Amino acid sequence: MVEALVLSLSDVGEEDRIVTFLTREHGLLRAAAGGARSLKKGRTAPIDLFVRTRIQVAYREQPGRLSRIRAAEVIEPYLLIRESYSDLCAASYMSELIIRSVQESDPVPGVYELMMNSLKLLKGEGNVFRTILIFELRLLKEMGWDPELEKCLKCGDVIKGKSVFSPLEGGVLHVKCTGQGPQPQISAGDLAFLRFITNRSLHSLGNLKLNEAKSSQLFRIVHPFTTHHLGFEPRAIKVLNSLPGWSI
Ligand SMILES: [Zn+2]
Repeated sequence: MVEALVLSLSDVGEEDRIVTFLTREHGLLRAAAGGARSLKKGRTAPIDLFVRTRIQVAYREQPGRLSRIRAAEVIEPYLLIRESYSDLCAASYMSELIIRSVQESDPVPGVYELMMNSLKLLKGEGNVFRTILIFELRLLKEMGWDPELEKCLKCGDVIKGKSVFSPLEGGVLHVKCTGQGPQPQISAGDLAFLRFITNRSLHSLGNLKLNEAKSSQLFRIVHPFTTHHLGFEPRAIKVLNSLPGWSI
């Protein structure tokens, strides 16, 4: 049995569903779930969006064939997330980023822990923007793509005071070291928040005091770096933009 989180579902024909799971041991796992046996009857189906589940998989024997789910049981249904529209939007956004970042059969255990931690932060918490900001910075770090937040990318000296965050160059520069005309500046305090989120233990971030306005402001600084680095804008950003107070 493998512990897995359901990230996306798509129906194929009348009986089959293709499920994309995130697992600690195998990275992404895509499998067909038609006829999968539910091991325990309960309120939640074991193969539904954002359900943490335990699955028994018949792995593909030939390239090009999909693995198949034989049986599944719920570990944690995250019911509160599926009852809140904004939490659902946030979970969909995080899933899309993971699906586009993590590979099949290439595990990144830190990303599994990050997603579980983020779902816990969402659950009944209400601060969607803070969760998304923490998730995005930590996903970049887990994948080894995190921006430079300590030293100026031009002169190499440690940044103190105001700086410029450049998505194209990959992090911070002194204001005096930026060649082109005026660029949006980031305060020392805001940079300290970004460093804190990137470097502290995941569990300690649950107590980070960051209101929604500040979270969305910081997200707007970081997000262009993410899209530039990944080479795409997640589709789910449109849904996030429909939430009150959120505009990228
Ligand atoms: Zn500099």
